[in-house]
Amino acid sequence: MAKRTLSAHRSWLTSANDPATDFPLSHLPYGAFEAGNERHLCVAIGTHLLDLHQCASANLLPRSLVAACQAPVLNPLMALGPRAWALLRETITTLLHASAPPDRRQATEAALHSITGTTLLRPVEIPNYTDFYASIHHATRVGAIFRPDQPLLPNYKHVPIGYHGRASSILPSGIPIFRPVGQTRPTTPGGMPPFGPTKSLDYELELAFYIGQPNSLGMPIPIGKAHQHLFGVSLLNDWSARDIQSWEYQPLGPFLGKSFATTVSPWVTPIAALEPFRAPTSPREKSDPKPLPYLRSAIDQKQGSLDVQLEVFLLTPTMRRNKLDPFLLSRSSAKDLFWTPAQLIAHHSSNGCNLPIGDLIATGTISGPKLTSAGCLLELTHNGTQPLALPTGETRGFLADGDEVILRGFCARPGHPRIGLGECRAAILPAHRSH
Ligand code: CA
Repeated sequence: MAKRTLSAHRSWLTSANDPATDFPLSHLPYGAFEAGNERHLCVAIGTHLLDLHQCASANLLPRSLVAACQAPVLNPLMALGPRAWALLRETITTLLHASAPPDRRQATEAALHSITGTTLLRPVEIPNYTDFYASIHHATRVGAIFRPDQPLLPNYKHVPIGYHGRASSILPSGIPIFRPVGQTRPTTPGGMPPFGPTKSLDYELELAFYIGQPNSLGMPIPIGKAHQHLFGVSLLNDWSARDIQSWEYQPLGPFLGKSFATTVSPWVTPIAALEPFRAPTSPREKSDPKPLPYLRSAIDQKQGSLDVQLEVFLLTPTMRRNKLDPFLLSRSSAKDLFWTPAQLIAHHSSNGCNLPIGDLIATGTISGPKLTSAGCLLELTHNGTQPLALPTGETRGFLADGDEVILRGFCARPGHPRIGLGECRAAILPAHRSH
């Protein structure tokens, strides 16, 4: 059975059959790249990308998909809906499959370009960005730092917590970010708040879910239909300035400590490619409340979580100079989240809020039960008070200028080709000094 599944995904492109590739034929994540002066959509396959604009020009795609595949962003394809998404995946799979006839193969080969040397762009026009707080392990550990007597607030197991983020500062992987400047807590009671570059710059390891089908204003999305609204998944780093955040967040929540930058990975994994990697929802303890009916569905409980394994690496300027590999900071899995993607979508729309095409819903920091699976430095270093020792002899309580944070994600299960979400990375530039 396993052999049959693997051979069903064999491509004539050798690099797509490498067991270590992020992009086998069963994956086909969408992206966008700079093609001369234009912006073309593409899918990743092995070490290459397949230019969808070029495929459409060469009459390799169904007529109904041509306009969407020649658009500069994925939004028009998202608008066509799940049947069109399935048709495009099926068409591309046939073109790249080992059994493709020689003439089709030749025409497809002409639209293949090496990923190395191409500039990947942010593939989705994002109207809104919402960030949740779906990891109970993150919520508990962060809560324990600030409220040792009550780490988890009483609402947590009833209501998915989230806030409205900033879409304008979402950047594609590889673009460096400036260290933000802002107000922080006065150092003496009643004193003036300092204003300057953050001293507590942190990353947050998250998954991003792209909304592919909208709901009308006033029309909640039932949990049983939430999956039809989900187009795909990427990696996301929700950069955070902890000192700015902790001074400003009461009573309305995160603002400038978060809105200065968010980095997304360039590839959007179609939700269809994640089907073999579904998992039961994180088990609730016996004493835990059941989710309210609008957040509960038997299918979602059985297979609503995604077993995406996640890693965070740090590359300091010293490591870069000495040509050392990035240092692994933590490992976790999205299957440990307390709330599923369907629950987040159902909850977000439960008040009638409309989620337009391209909206980005992030999970919140993904941490596991152990400290080695903590998805941010706030947890790993106990708010900077217990700095990490790096192999270079350096230490980090929070991020330093020149540091680069690299997120990686992959899914692996016996009998299925491994798929990888690629990388979400960015380095930190010193703060602007224009104030
Ligand atoms: Ca976050």
